[in-house]
Amino acid sequence: VTATFTGDAGPEVASAIAGGLRDVPDFPTPGIVFKDIAPLLASAAFGTAVRSLAEHAGNVDLVAGVEARGFLLAGAVATALGCGVVPVRKAGKLPPPTIARSYALEYGQASIEVPVHVVEGKRVFLVDDVLATGGTLRAAADLVVQAGGQVSALGVLLELGFLNGRSAVGDVAPLTVLLHV
Ligand code: AMP
Repeated sequence: VTATFTGDAGPEVASAIAGGLRDVPDFPTPGIVFKDIAPLLASAAFGTAVRSLAEHAGNVDLVAGVEARGFLLAGAVATALGCGVVPVRKAGKLPPPTIARSYALEYGQASIEVPVHVVEGKRVFLVDDVLATGGTLRAAADLVVQAGGQVSALGVLLELGFLNGRSAVGDVAPLTVLLHV
């Protein structure tokens, strides 16, 4: 039996992403199946993922990524695009002035911040590894807008379709998902 993978960059890219994932049951809390992207990051599929996201960015000034796995993607995608990067950080890490937002996670609660001044007037491509409930991406997008920027595209390696995070970010900007799960 050949499994067929689907995603917005086609079945070959989707299959490359799928091949780099490791399912970890009951992490970090019981009932959650954690999608570990460490094998993907440690393989040539990382380049495939970065190039595929970059191809779907459109015209942007900055790539933003959410701490910490989003940083790895955002930096690499920004380099591929020849533009800059913005760290969206866990609360309390950035020096002031910042703006913050709290939101619900698939497994808990979190608060994130963006630096004020760097985002203003910029078109931002917001990337992360996993779209679960969409709370993280939504909060990050709202922060970019609050900081005077424009979210012009969203991109993730994979989307957990059963959590319908798409509905939380659907009205923000076009969303690229390399692998639908
Ligand atoms: P959410 O805000 O619910 O969309 O969660 C997305 C954030 O939490 C992303 O930054 C992911 O890295 C992480 N995350 C949530 N659920 C999972 C999961 N099942 N496997 C791996 N990472 C996850």
